[in-house]
Amino acid sequence: MQTITVDLKERSYPIYIAPEGWKALPLALEGAITGKKVMVVCDENTYRLYYQAVKTVLEGQGYTVYPAVIPPGESSKSFAQAQNLYTRALDAGLTRSSTIIALGGGVVGDLAGFIAATYMRGIGFIQIPTTLLAQVDSSIGGKVAINHPLAKNIIGAFYQPQMVFINPNTLKTLPPREFATGMAELIKHAFIADSQFISWLEQNMEALLSCDVQTLAHALYCSCNIKARVVERDEKESGLRMILNFGHTIGHAIESATGYSVYTHGEAVAMGMVYEAKIAMHRGLIGHDYVKRLSSLIEKAGLPTSLETANWKEADLKLLLERMAYDKKNTDSRIVFVLPTGYGRVDVFKDITTEDIMQALAEQ
Ligand code: ADP
Ligand code: ZN
Repeated sequence: MQTITVDLKERSYPIYIAPEGWKALPLALEGAITGKKVMVVCDENTYRLYYQAVKTVLEGQGYTVYPAVIPPGESSKSFAQAQNLYTRALDAGLTRSSTIIALGGGVVGDLAGFIAATYMRGIGFIQIPTTLLAQVDSSIGGKVAINHPLAKNIIGAFYQPQMVFINPNTLKTLPPREFATGMAELIKHAFIADSQFISWLEQNMEALLSCDVQTLAHALYCSCNIKARVVERDEKESGLRMILNFGHTIGHAIESATGYSVYTHGEAVAMGMVYEAKIAMHRGLIGHDYVKRLSSLIEKAGLPTSLETANWKEADLKLLLERMAYDKKNTDSRIVFVLPTGYGRVDVFKDITTEDIMQALAEQ
């Protein structure tokens, strides 16, 4: 088991990466849980696949375990599901010293974390992420939220967990498309911060796709380490954390313009990274070799590198640009871009024009 410490002063916590699986969980739990009652939030899939194993470990440690199961999917990040979980917590008699464990992907993590942050003004919280996206991205950094019918992730908080436990073996049951979506963020981490990790990914992508556990554990370590270092330096997303948005200005616009139903988040971010790299190339910030290496790694991971724009109408492009203007990271009504300036390096740009964006989108 490897440990990464997220250093946030009194809110510091460890991320454990355990290729040996659940048998490492007791060691990770030491000191992470104060009370005796634990509510484990799962969705129907993670309940079926992993609840029993986690429950057995927790009971072996003397905890009383209460399961709370939600339907899978983004629509569970709702007021209605939040209310169900508060009711469940009250019925179980959870107190301020109790702990909530999120056992699942980003949906479970965001919702369970939101409940942990607000129930009795905040109780213990542990993340056991089971999707690649949650393991390298959403479980690190303390962002928890539910959706409002009018906007995603708009009701939330920064609430750091006591610990994150990653069992890479859980990725063996993940549907390939879900695996690929997490791979987009993992690739992003390499390209924004670690050129050696880029070369390593190029050499090890096959082993990762076949879920070789030791190879996965190494990739998770590098990726989580990058995210942890960024979060440490900017816990509340006031500046540096913005570099994690490489690929997201265009990626979010693609997701939003297509009604969140055509592409997964990672697929949209993958295309966003390629388009944003093209903008950087046209500006002379990077060479064509960068775009080529990025695209081929993305392709290898089973992700798209471009939109099917051949039969796009002008209106579609206009909608895409409109959605970019709505991005909540924007300041002074300028569209903010995080663009590569070299392998493992990015910078923030506020002077990208509509023409720059159109040119990159049009190029195949
Ligand atoms: P994400 O982590 O990508 O934000 P979700 O929390 O919505 O997404 O999880 C994506 C889907 O994968 C859900 O249907 C969830 O039930 C399922 N899932 C989560 N973890 C696993 C796993 N380890 N094996 C199989 N399916 C899983
Ligand atoms: Zn993302």
